[in-house]
Amino acid sequence: MPTPVTAPVPTEALRHPAGALLSGAALRKSFGPTAALDGASLAVAPGEIVAVMGPSGSGKSTLMHCLAGILRPDGGSIRYRDQDVTGMSDTRLSALRRTEFGFLFQFGQLVPELSCLENVALPLRLDGLRRAKAEQRAAEWLERLEVAEVAAKRPGEVSGGQGQRVGVARALVTGPRVVFADEPTGALDSLNGERVMQLLTAAARDTGAAVLLVTHEARVAAYADREVVVRDGRTRDLGGGL
Ligand code: ADP
Ligand code: MG
Repeated sequence: MPTPVTAPVPTEALRHPAGALLSGAALRKSFGPTAALDGASLAVAPGEIVAVMGPSGSGKSTLMHCLAGILRPDGGSIRYRDQDVTGMSDTRLSALRRTEFGFLFQFGQLVPELSCLENVALPLRLDGLRRAKAEQRAAEWLERLEVAEVAAKRPGEVSGGQGQRVGVARALVTGPRVVFADEPTGALDSLNGERVMQLLTAAARDTGAAVLLVTHEARVAAYADREVVVRDGRTRDLGGGL
């Protein structure tokens, strides 16, 4: 008996699931001889919080940077809403990042010369908002993140936990549809890490932002709706969601 031929999977449907806000399919990216991504796929629905887990060096940050339009993949494709991100010009990519995405990193990455208030206002200023309006909105976000008292201080004058709350405010101030958070609690003690996760996820739920959350810690991943594991540049979905 010849083995039956399996019906081909409808690749387009598999690659970019219906209902996804942002999706990357079969992504490949190498740095010299190192294949950082080797066919990774990940989709996030509007408002969904997805934890991206996996060992150090497995390709988590590279995956985030590709999806965020910071790095161009060598292969595969990325869609945001109905737009093909992979084919966008640098100008359109940077407009997309500025208006639709928010970023939060392990060490806050705040501009050291600016006050915490000016740091939070910066994405709005880059978007053309007038200073008074931008700083008013930034002050509201600092209040919401329970760090109104650091507004006039520089990042070097505040604690790690405070700095990371300022980072959350800066990531959300423009009302992004997707927040990329790469090990946002990696440099914090567990109490501060827990509070930053509560504040980040509450703000994302309130504003309807989706979150792609890279973490090593199961405790942090517990805040997500779904987990995806990255290993050797490939993704494995642990069920739920898309
Ligand atoms: P993770 O975030 O999971 O720790 P990364 O995506 O940072 O993993 O890295 C995946 C692999 O790609 C690693 O082997 C890393 O050393 C390599 N890599 C990442 N970025 C670069 C780069 N800019 N230049 C060279 N190698 C890199
Ligand atoms: Mg990383």
